[in-house]
Amino acid sequence: MYKAFLIKYAEIGVKGKNRYIFEDRLCDQIRYALKRCDGDFEVTKTQGRIYATANSEFDFDEVVENLKTVFGISGICPVVQVEDEGFEKLCEDVVNYIDKAYTDKSFTFKVETRRARKNYPKESMEINCDIGEVLLKAFPQMKVDVHKPDVMLHIEIREKINIYSTIIPGPGGLPIGTNGKGMLLLSGGIDSPVAGYMISKRGVKLDAVYFNAPPYTSDRAKEKVIDLARLVSKYSGPINLHVINFTDIQLYIYEKCPHDELTIIMRRYMMRIAEQIAKDNNCLGLITGESIGQVASQTMQSLMATNDVCTMPVYRPLIGFDKQEIVEVSEKINTYETSILPYEDCCTIFVAKHPVTKPNLNVIRIHERNLDEKIDELVKTALETDEVIEISAE
Ligand code: ATP
Ligand code: MG
Repeated sequence: MYKAFLIKYAEIGVKGKNRYIFEDRLCDQIRYALKRCDGDFEVTKTQGRIYATANSEFDFDEVVENLKTVFGISGICPVVQVEDEGFEKLCEDVVNYIDKAYTDKSFTFKVETRRARKNYPKESMEINCDIGEVLLKAFPQMKVDVHKPDVMLHIEIREKINIYSTIIPGPGGLPIGTNGKGMLLLSGGIDSPVAGYMISKRGVKLDAVYFNAPPYTSDRAKEKVIDLARLVSKYSGPINLHVINFTDIQLYIYEKCPHDELTIIMRRYMMRIAEQIAKDNNCLGLITGESIGQVASQTMQSLMATNDVCTMPVYRPLIGFDKQEIVEVSEKINTYETSILPYEDCCTIFVAKHPVTKPNLNVIRIHERNLDEKIDELVKTALETDEVIEISAE
């Protein structure tokens, strides 16, 4: 019965000039999400309303599922649109709508009319009463409840007339592309895909960087990260994934530095390289999946030591999350199953039995000087051999 969806979005903070940017980006992301669905859709913006209209058959559940990945949407309303052909015809249309939308009519309802077109011959209150009466006559099982109705029947008088009574919650947030771009450090774990999801929820477009260590890490480990990036890109839009060969840097650190400091020093080089790629690609910050105290490299002291090498802001959206809370989000966004596939990670390969949990920044800096001879050259090579993979969920 539905051919269109009325898209609701929270309007707070989208006044004036920003409103157009917000709406246009939202339309772009809706189109991106609908490309994944069977059918032909048109996304339009008219009179402050966004519609997704199907020009063909489509699978209702599939469309709703995909619209739920579009940040900025607060509500998805399957809508019936009718031409204005007089009030009597409207009453017929509404009766038809209720008849089709609800097989069981034993519910309470309220009619809520909005006239965006003030030249309509009846006032909103009058329309509410008249349509209410018509419905009560047509379906005696229905009852009016103006305080807590089971069904809120919306009638919006615009150029056409919108009839809808279901609002499916959207994901909220802000449309991708309204808030710049960030560089996500994406590993194959549970946390970093969730971190990417959370930052992109605030309208931030993502690029990503993955450090691999062939032949110590396999192609399958890399494929897993690509799969994770694709899952995140359902929400975030297309991602350019930078794959950096980290092997020689890791081996060199292993050779020159105390083994209990390997992880920290390695993480410092990851951050340095990520920041360079971020700068080269107009990103405004780094994003990691770190959470205080989760592992040795994420104590406050370790985070301080890692953060020390960055000049860009580092966003850590999971910082106060417990593992279980992170797992819940990863299940919701469907990355969990992929994240737990047991492929080796570059960090676990050279990991010490007893890594320092309270690194002393000055000591770390001193030990890093052991790398002076070759490290710049190795970093340069790593950056030059950056493999960029374009990932999209279309
Ligand atoms: P995750 O589940 O995201 O892998 P983790 O609990 O394994 O996190 P660490 O291995 O300490 O934690 O990594 C902390 C953060 O550093 C990750 O969330 C990620 O943002 C980044 N990171 C770690 N390893 C890599 C890698 N190989 N490539 C890119 N980023 C990485
Ligand atoms: Mg990890």
